[in-house]
Amino acid sequence: MVRKIVVIGGVAGGASAAAKARRQDEFCQIIIFEKGPYISFANCGLPYYISGEIAKRESLLLNTPESFKARHNIEVKTNHEVLKVLRDKKRVLVKDLITDKEFEEPYDKLILAPGALPIVPPLPGIQARNCFPLRSIPDTDNIFQYLANNSITQAAIVGGGYIGLEMAEAMLARDLKVTVIEKADQLLAPMDREMSQPILAHLGEKRVEVILRDGVKEFLVDKSDRVQEIVLESGRKLPAEIAILSIGIKPDIRLARDAGLKIGTTGAIEVNERMETSDPDIFAAGDCAESTHLLTGKKVWIALAGPANKQGRVAGANAAGGNKVMKGVLGTAIVKICDLVAARTGLNEREAQQEGLDYYCSYTHGEDHAGYYPGAKPLTIKLIAEKGSGRLLGVQVVGRGGVDKRIDILSTALYAGLTISDLGNLDLAYAPQFGSARDPVITAGFVAQNILQGEVAALTSKELMGDMEAGKKVRIIDVRTPREHAVVSISGSTLIPIDELRSRLDELAGHKKEELVAHCGTGLRSYLACRILQAHGFTRVKNLIGGITSWKHNMPSENS
Ligand code: FAD
Repeated sequence: MVRKIVVIGGVAGGASAAAKARRQDEFCQIIIFEKGPYISFANCGLPYYISGEIAKRESLLLNTPESFKARHNIEVKTNHEVLKVLRDKKRVLVKDLITDKEFEEPYDKLILAPGALPIVPPLPGIQARNCFPLRSIPDTDNIFQYLANNSITQAAIVGGGYIGLEMAEAMLARDLKVTVIEKADQLLAPMDREMSQPILAHLGEKRVEVILRDGVKEFLVDKSDRVQEIVLESGRKLPAEIAILSIGIKPDIRLARDAGLKIGTTGAIEVNERMETSDPDIFAAGDCAESTHLLTGKKVWIALAGPANKQGRVAGANAAGGNKVMKGVLGTAIVKICDLVAARTGLNEREAQQEGLDYYCSYTHGEDHAGYYPGAKPLTIKLIAEKGSGRLLGVQVVGRGGVDKRIDILSTALYAGLTISDLGNLDLAYAPQFGSARDPVITAGFVAQNILQGEVAALTSKELMGDMEAGKKVRIIDVRTPREHAVVSISGSTLIPIDELRSRLDELAGHKKEELVAHCGTGLRSYLACRILQAHGFTRVKNLIGGITSWKHNMPSENS
């Protein structure tokens, strides 16, 4: 008998599942129901069409129902919404959104891939004509047309996550004055706060106003149902002629929940490694489903395109009689905001703490390729590793170039379970255009290993700030040049440039038993200073990891 596979949702998870099911079984019948007018579109490209970087709308449409039929012999029904899963009959109830007709479609195997829903809190005025979420091509068209048909000068972005910041860039590209409103005390919640600070500073350079620690209370709407002003929880009012809502998303579990399928602790559909739900004839993939975290082994909900595609592939293969498994995810993600790129993989500090892990952090600030070759740009790497074992737990990278390569090397290292000492042994390609003979990844490994081995005691900026706030007496030696010191310095620090340290040791002679913290720009010169001081009998020296650069990243953020 010919197996019949029904897929709900025709984008990353659903389209991958259907195509893989066809490759697994040439003879099964496959139908995709997609409630929107398009399948297989490039969600991740939507902000770049709005900005104008992607010039043609068609470029966002990766496949059509016709191309899916021709290539894969898959029937695609767009503008068809699945209203219900009738598990007892093994059928789905479908509504044709053009004709309003409802019908039942039987299945042998069902794949749920309805994605996620934007969070739209019930704030007064949020349904106004110029308040837009961004999830789909129709959402994109709405924003695009509104911008084209109205002469607008100011945009408000509500939510400072990945999509909100991509949209901030898109609005800047359209010459609008942009304000980003974020309720938390930092942008990009998946990053640690200090690693999101360069983004905040960069947006300031681009004249984007970022409002942190304040939420929207109300959208003030005029007679023609357009937002004119946004009232914040603090009482502040902002003018806005268009508002982009990127407050967050939640898994779309409505069909699964109503059908009595098990919902996991994360709030997404529970699946096993074969992407089977609690009903073995129903699979789930993409933003609607849970994943397993490769480091903790726990269930997580991570809504990203890479996992959605892989989950879809596994669900499709298994629905068609195969036997594939989805091992898990690391939450690897990357985003470009104007000239800066930020990326992360594995656990951030908050997650490491939640796991009860005993970890430490290292920071290295270098350049994406050899400094002597034109165009080298700053690159910061934060490694989070387990104390004792040196097992790599998480990585965050921020820079203007080469971030993608470093995060992918390091996510592969995480997948392979490498330790920080393994990083120093990686054999990475080098020519001056691409990296350094000692690549930033290798340097990050060396620094993290030095901290682990404890030849020089290390201190993070956060720890030093905590000590100073607590009134602890700490003697800070700045080993940079007088010029660097004059630009920015830690209050109370004593300047002794590294090249003068040996000849000026007598100035510190009375402090041999005191805690001395050496710092420079990035932590490299101060490491040398610590070794010199140790050799001359200073027993309590500490190196400030990441130097003044990390110190600045840890300063309390002010609204720009
Ligand atoms: P979706 O792509 O949301 O597709 C689900 C589909 O199911 C929708 O088309 C929906 O209409 C349809 N559907 C829902 N319910 C029904 C129903 N009852 N009947 C029929 N059809 C239904 N991820 C990254 O990794 N990198 C990025 O750079 C990135 N950028 C993004 C930018 C934007 C603007 C957006 C919106 C997302 C971005 N993402 C990015 C996230 C990524 O696109 C998603 O993780 C991925 O698309 C999830 O795939 P999915 O198939 O689960 O869900």
